[in-house]
Amino acid sequence: MSDEHDPHEKGPAARVRELEEKLVRAGLIDPAALDELEQKLERHVGPHHGARMVARSWVDPAYRERLLGDASAAAIELGFSVPEARLTAVENTSGVHNLIVCTLCSCYPWFLLGPPPAWYKSFAYRSRAVRDPRGVLHDFGTMLPDDIEVRVWDSTAEQRYMVIPERPLGTEHLNEEELAALVTRDSMVGVETLGYKREESK
Ligand code: FE
Repeated sequence: MSDEHDPHEKGPAARVRELEEKLVRAGLIDPAALDELEQKLERHVGPHHGARMVARSWVDPAYRERLLGDASAAAIELGFSVPEARLTAVENTSGVHNLIVCTLCSCYPWFLLGPPPAWYKSFAYRSRAVRDPRGVLHDFGTMLPDDIEVRVWDSTAEQRYMVIPERPLGTEHLNEEELAALVTRDSMVGVETLGYKREESK
């Protein structure tokens, strides 16, 4: 492994793997128990939870209202726990695009979106998302029409955000579960869209 030789290349995944190997070798942990824990964690946290909330909001206007009013309660309503902080959902519309960031560190609604990606925690993203959100979106390949307002939401330990992306066109025939499968983590952070209606329809 190349990351054995260069400490600068050793990312968190490699460090965790090393620690895990040491603990297993020392007989301090049981790999089967670790696997079970990992599976449990996957069931309980991850972007599939946020995706279900988004899909529900697309098919059920009353749920959408509740989600916009109190996203923590709306998460609990679908059986998800939101232990970390107050959660607010912000909706993308034909005129507004939302982007979330934590300028201070890496606050993130991880029970609903899974662990934050490395770029979310990077200084580059944290500093540039507020200064130049369109530039950040551009780097993610997300081109917005000029007249769309970009709103940036700065997360804290007490306040987390998730974006409700717009429902893509041509999905009228899909059921809620199929819709949920279309919702990406990045679209709920706001660095990508699932397609802008105006661009595609007119
Ligand atoms: Fe933070």
